[in-house]
Amino acid sequence: MSVPRTRHEEVREAVRALCRQYPDAYFRAVDAERGYPEGFVDALTEAGWLAAMIPQEYGGSGLGLGEATVIMEEINRSGGNAGACHGQMYNMGTLLRHGSEEQKRRYLPKIASGELRLQSMGVTEPSTGTDTTKIKTTAVRRGDRYVVNGQKVWISRVQHSDLMILLARTTPLAEVAKKSAGMSIFLVDLRASIGHGMTVRPIPNMVNHETNELFFENLEIPAENLIGREGEGFKYILDGLNAERTLIAAECIGDGHWFIDRVTRYAKERVVFGRPIGQNQGVQFPIAEAHIEVEAADLMRWRACDLFDAHAPCGAEANMAKYLAAKASWEAGNACLQFHGGFGFADEYDIERKFRETRLYQVAPISTNLILSYVAEHVLGLPRSF
Ligand SMILES: Cc1cc2nc3c(=O)[nH]c(=O)nc-3n(C[C@H](O)[C@H](O)[C@H](O)COP(=O)(O)OP(=O)(O)OC[C@H]3O[C@@H](n4cnc5c(N)ncnc54)[C@H](O)[C@@H]3O)c2cc1C
Repeated sequence: MSVPRTRHEEVREAVRALCRQYPDAYFRAVDAERGYPEGFVDALTEAGWLAAMIPQEYGGSGLGLGEATVIMEEINRSGGNAGACHGQMYNMGTLLRHGSEEQKRRYLPKIASGELRLQSMGVTEPSTGTDTTKIKTTAVRRGDRYVVNGQKVWISRVQHSDLMILLARTTPLAEVAKKSAGMSIFLVDLRASIGHGMTVRPIPNMVNHETNELFFENLEIPAENLIGREGEGFKYILDGLNAERTLIAAECIGDGHWFIDRVTRYAKERVVFGRPIGQNQGVQFPIAEAHIEVEAADLMRWRACDLFDAHAPCGAEANMAKYLAAKASWEAGNACLQFHGGFGFADEYDIERKFRETRLYQVAPISTNLILSYVAEHVLGLPRSF
């Protein structure tokens, strides 16, 4: 057994026990009807797992990112999809690290109890994509309100969230010294906003990931919903993204183990040409390779967690963990699908579903190319390419 898997064993066991009540058939049915795993997310909330990172003084368990990643990993390792609820873990962190004491007292206990869900974050825009500093959504201060205009795309879980973290420009790009300045983050009350300046259009997509286009037309947000200082929102968002990347790395590690367990079991049982297919090295090697890569990604995930929990810079480690884990789970998924032959394509084996789910993470929340670019520029000091 690798060293990291012995960490937080109690959390791991408890989450596994909860997940056993939601077997493959449950997630298969939710996927088939493009539904939301409401019962599962409620059970996770009631057990307190989605409030893991909320400090005890605000009603949570006060655990670190390390434990939070174990929760996400075990959901995916059990055959489920933590993508339905992972938003709460990292969005809450933005509020916790940068919100005022009053905001924290107002929202965190309700988030911890499940009365409020903070599952959504609105950053991506259709015309600017990954070039976030060029976002066109604006928030203009008018008295005690901000007035928001613009558009977002791929904003997930809006239908199952009460609150959303929104990134908007408060100072035009042309007026700031540094392009990352002049953006701010707000806590948007979704129920009060939808139909009152905010329109939501769902985007049907390849995975069962509830995601949407958002349109803002003079949406009014109370000025007290600004998080932190005006103009510094990009910095706050980046902090949250390190948690997001590390949590998603753990989900991919969970997927990777799920694929490897399934394919190993099948390769021992499936007999073709008079012997188990797993006796052929052409079958063994891709599985072994994927296993090595999942284990290596796991080590980087723990490095990112330890740094994040120590409040140390962890941008490089969080990005590298997400890169390695997304690649490893995809390789594991490929081997699993390949060596199940035709059966891998049958819904009832769940492989095609998990294959689609894990593929997303090479594009979202950040594409692999952008991680390579980050490492080239910020870790290796190569010249800026954009
Ligand atoms: C299911 C789903 C859910 C999502 N949920 C959310 C959400 O909740 N909130 C949110 O804000 N966003 C969300 N996103 C958006 C996601 O973060 C973006 O799709 C992702 O960051 C890529 O941005 P883009 O789609 O605009 O691609 P683009 O920026 O248009 O890039 C397209 C491709 O070109 C490549 N590329 C671009 N520039 C370069 C370059 N300079 N060098 C090399 N390659 C380059 C990229 O790597 C990418 O592969 C979600 C996306 C999906 C698909």
